[in-house]
Amino acid sequence: MSSRPNPKRFRKTVGFRLTAWYSGIFILSSVFLFSFSYFYISSSLKKQAQEAIASRLSELSALYQTGGIEAIEREVTGYKKFERKDPFLIRISGPQNETFLLILPSQWMEFDVRELQDIASGSSITWTYLRGGNGKDSLEVASIRLSDDYVLQVGKSIEDRERILSHFRRNFLVIAALLIAFAFAGGAFLAFRALRPIRHIISAVRLASSGRMDTRVPSTDTDDELGELVTLFNQMLKRIETLIEGMRDSLDNVAHDLRTPMTRFRGIAEMALRSDKDPNVCREALTECIEESERILRMLNTLMDISEAEMGAMKLHLERVNVCNIVEDIVDAYIYVAEDRGIAVHTRFGKDLWVVADSTRIYQIMSNLLENALKYTPRGGRIDMEAKSRDNEIVITVKDTGMGIYEEELPKIWDRSYRGDQSRSQAGLGLGLSLVKAIVQAHKGHVGVSSQPGKGSTFTIALPVTD
Ligand code: ADP
Repeated sequence: MSSRPNPKRFRKTVGFRLTAWYSGIFILSSVFLFSFSYFYISSSLKKQAQEAIASRLSELSALYQTGGIEAIEREVTGYKKFERKDPFLIRISGPQNETFLLILPSQWMEFDVRELQDIASGSSITWTYLRGGNGKDSLEVASIRLSDDYVLQVGKSIEDRERILSHFRRNFLVIAALLIAFAFAGGAFLAFRALRPIRHIISAVRLASSGRMDTRVPSTDTDDELGELVTLFNQMLKRIETLIEGMRDSLDNVAHDLRTPMTRFRGIAEMALRSDKDPNVCREALTECIEESERILRMLNTLMDISEAEMGAMKLHLERVNVCNIVEDIVDAYIYVAEDRGIAVHTRFGKDLWVVADSTRIYQIMSNLLENALKYTPRGGRIDMEAKSRDNEIVITVKDTGMGIYEEELPKIWDRSYRGDQSRSQAGLGLGLSLVKAIVQAHKGHVGVSSQPGKGSTFTIALPVTD
């Protein structure tokens, strides 16, 4: 893999695209905001200036009605302030555009007022612009037709307005440059920060695919979607790690547990070969081989079941199951064996004990427990199978009056391949209780045992009542 930066690839990265989108939207919003403010300020200033001109125009037009040009002249020469702070252009022209009165402040001498044509129509104000000689400055002029066909014109420079707007434009350009730089930097920073968990996940996946299943993505300590993704991803890695370890352990256990029966298997075959082709010995050996292979097969299946259940990989066909029906079926199935061995089997259960479980597996573990009770209880004994509901659980007990278990053996009986010292005389693989525990735990339940040597044992299974 090449580590050189590839600009084409960089442009395709989510980080780059996020930054570009973020900056683009930021810049567009700024331009929109500027245009709106510019338009708003510009039209407000124009409206304000035109209102001032229109008010002066109507003032002077009223004066003209009462005293003619002389009245205006008198008024205007009294307004010395026009000249200085807030100058106005005032002109009265005749029908041929000849000027009868002209007040033109000294700073506007370059304007040619003859360019102001007779554009006034009716009694409404008409607006026009008079360009200065330098082409920069211009006057905004309002014209109105007076009663005797003369035209009154009042104008004002738009220089102040233009100055404010050009300041605004200049400042905006500076601010926009800063904003664009900020948008890029901010966008890149946000994209970098937001995508950090993704980068961590990518490197964790790289490590995991190279066999490092103990790798984990650093937690983001946030409650957002990426934080959830990281947590779920770590949980998945942990689960895969557990499964792989479980498979490795199972393989070790199976290899270890099969060694003895396979050696015995081979021993039987070798003995038969050495028996000088005596057909009876050979037949016996073949029968033993079949029995041994069946035992191995059973052992293999049980070991695989235990491993799957312990790793959480066992496929459970969950359904609503009435526990009483299963217990009854099992007792029916074993009742002849029990009678044969002179053991009485009693059942007691409440009504409607429903759990969500895999009925085949529940049947399997219950028969394991009953089989053990029958195996380890002497003739004349008694077995009680009970099922009841307790604290959101269905509790099933199998109680026998058998040989019991020594206290020091109690914790070991759930281990794989463990067989009690006193039980060696009975057939068994030492896997029955391991399977019971693994399946019950796969159903999120728990197991328990209490026993008194020589008096009997009570095995308990508790299954949660779930919807
Ligand atoms: P197995 O019965 O094939 O030996 P299990 O896993 O079923 O294997 O049981 C493990 C051990 O627990 C048995 O060897 C026995 O010592 C003890 N055990 C199980 N059930 C009973 C019981 N009902 N009474 C006494 N001992 C029991």
